[in-house]
Amino acid sequence: MDYLPHELERRRADHLYRVRRTIDGPQGPALQVDGRPMLAFCSNDYLGLAADPRLVQALQRGAARYGAGSGAAHLVTGHMRPHQALEEELAEFVGRPRALLFSTGYMANLGVISALLGSGDSVWEDRLNHASLIDGGLISRARFRRYPHGDSASLERRLDAPREGKRTLIASDGVFSMDGDLAPLPELARIARQRRAWLLLDDAHGLGVLGAQGRGTLEHFGLDPGAAPILMGTLGKAFGTFGAFVAGEEALVETLIQQARSYIYTTAPPPAVAEATRASLRIVREEPWRRERLRELVSRFRRGAGQLGLPLTASESPIQPLLAGSAQCALRWSQRLEEQGILVTAIRPPTVPEGEARLRITLSAAHSEAQVERLLGALEEVWRDEGSDAA
Ligand SMILES: *Cc1c(COP(=O)(O)O)cnc(C)c1O
Repeated sequence: MDYLPHELERRRADHLYRVRRTIDGPQGPALQVDGRPMLAFCSNDYLGLAADPRLVQALQRGAARYGAGSGAAHLVTGHMRPHQALEEELAEFVGRPRALLFSTGYMANLGVISALLGSGDSVWEDRLNHASLIDGGLISRARFRRYPHGDSASLERRLDAPREGKRTLIASDGVFSMDGDLAPLPELARIARQRRAWLLLDDAHGLGVLGAQGRGTLEHFGLDPGAAPILMGTLGKAFGTFGAFVAGEEALVETLIQQARSYIYTTAPPPAVAEATRASLRIVREEPWRRERLRELVSRFRRGAGQLGLPLTASESPIQPLLAGSAQCALRWSQRLEEQGILVTAIRPPTVPEGEARLRITLSAAHSEAQVERLLGALEEVWRDEGSDAA
């Protein structure tokens, strides 16, 4: 183990060392960070639900009724009434016959890809897919192929017709987690249909946020559920709680129950968390003003950042990256903001490609317009003093 301190030191010298901060109090725009008040623009709590009192109450009532832990895996005695009810409600929300809860989105992606594919099959992934889709593809033992980001034409050129008895899966984020742009979903759906491939849509950042009803990237494009037969959604982002689900046809969900190792060999999530998510799902459906407000804040931010000449990307989602270039520059920006009491984390390789380090600014319906203006004021100074070294 002697070489570990060495490697850590090198990581630090390369500006790639990561540290955690400790937050006191609930998630929200105003955070207590290591004892200091900060205005934060980096959570995935897009609708401002993580600390909503109605979710907290549902959690407390759920715990009073079902206890703190599930005590077993779903296939043993851990599958409780709140899990079952939440699965039914999620399936209805996304317009599919069935949904299956997973403990995390990471586990859902590992489970679904490795349950459906094996050696001799093929998986095609967008180059900027989330790490969990990449890892799921790698552990499945299928032939692993990546296509350039958002480039459905390249995918179509390279994708051959499936060989007899072999399966092909195309997997993509709906909203890309570090870039905020959208997958070319209508094109991916057409290609998958024509080539008889499965399409797995990871809509971690789309569900709850995109579409008038919050049904995500498919609703945004006006596509029906059949366009992406396998839908993965997470519950720790717009839904404000914890966990994930995969939704689709009866046979898909039954196959996952039989074969997805990250579903079978793990403890079911606490039932009270499922109760909190049920409360959150009701709010996601009944309070469209949260999505509306989020859209307004995104426009406000983009208008202001555009006027300042900041290096915005094409993203129209609540994920608004500012490209810095080097890890060192992204860190400097982040530190300068921190000096002004604003928290935006620097995202560096390997989370993003080399030379594409950035600030990942995220907006939430819980932010006020005045807070967005404060961010713009701080960014103006940082931009004036530091510039970017992005190519
Ligand atoms: C966050 C995220 C996941 C993982 O979900 P967790 O529930 O946090 O494990 C998967 N895919 C994408 C695109 C994500 O952004």
